[in-house]
Amino acid sequence: MTSGPVEAADLTGPTRRAVVTDPAVGRAPAGAVAAGPVLEITDSRTTAVGSFEVRRALPTRRRRTVGAWCFVDHAGPVRLEEGARPDIGPHPHMGLHTVTWLLEGEMLHRDSLGSEQVIRPGQLNLMTAGRGIAHAEEATGTSRPTAHLVQLWVAQPSATRDGPPAFEHHAELPRAELEHAVATVLIGTFAGAESPARRDTEMVGVDLDVRPGRTVLRLDPAFEHGIVVTAGEVAVDDQPIALSPGHLAYVAHGPDALALTSWAPARVLLVGGVPFPEPLLMWWNLVARTREEIEAGYLDWATDSGRFGRVASPLPRVETAPPIWTPRRSG
Ligand code: MN
Repeated sequence: MTSGPVEAADLTGPTRRAVVTDPAVGRAPAGAVAAGPVLEITDSRTTAVGSFEVRRALPTRRRRTVGAWCFVDHAGPVRLEEGARPDIGPHPHMGLHTVTWLLEGEMLHRDSLGSEQVIRPGQLNLMTAGRGIAHAEEATGTSRPTAHLVQLWVAQPSATRDGPPAFEHHAELPRAELEHAVATVLIGTFAGAESPARRDTEMVGVDLDVRPGRTVLRLDPAFEHGIVVTAGEVAVDDQPIALSPGHLAYVAHGPDALALTSWAPARVLLVGGVPFPEPLLMWWNLVARTREEIEAGYLDWATDSGRFGRVASPLPRVETAPPIWTPRRSG
């Protein structure tokens, strides 16, 4: 049995049962023995994307990936001021898929493949960067004054990360009725429903519209999972902690079920996958393996070499300063 503090290294075993929270959360003592799977709860970082404030659940210092999921931003709900536009001009990506999921609002996606796609709540945009793509996200200026969305990235494995870019829009996604929730399957298979969206590794992404009550989620025991609450509060695995927006609950691989309990309607994002087997280097909007790859990507964008293509957007390109690497200490 566990006694004393539980270190991060203890979180890999499938049978260890404990609650661990980030010291900043501080609502449960590290090492508290509990009845369910290992839960590691970390605070999201608050950061700005353009004029938007977002809660970044991944990556954090403690947790870099959940399966191939390597970036999870939750923005809003925020009522847009008259004239305010949550736009992001053309910017590059490589080595990842971007997954866009709206809870409220409306956005226009444009990319360097010539795609031009309005996305609305319940729909999925999945853009594959491969060796390089650029895109812009523009407000549509129509009568949807509230923005509420999640923006996720999925790391591509080496088998596909140098491949061609691509874009998919899924206007309809499969749903599964659970005990006290409706699951919409964004990626992968969940509760017998399979999303048509592309996936390059074994993974899952699910939106859960939760009603009051206790719902048991059946998990793939080979997957590690992350839970981000996007509205309301839920208790995870009967723990005496109400998980609210602004946190990531991480569950190591092993369990085949997880219970969510809520007392009021809530909205939950579940992501999971086989632990990503390759080390990632993430810088700005680029995912790679080495600094040389990042530097090459930066230069190709800065010099407009053509690698990332052109986006037919009225917005200006997003520029960034070159990467500055922390010098390694020798000796
Ligand atoms: Mn982007």
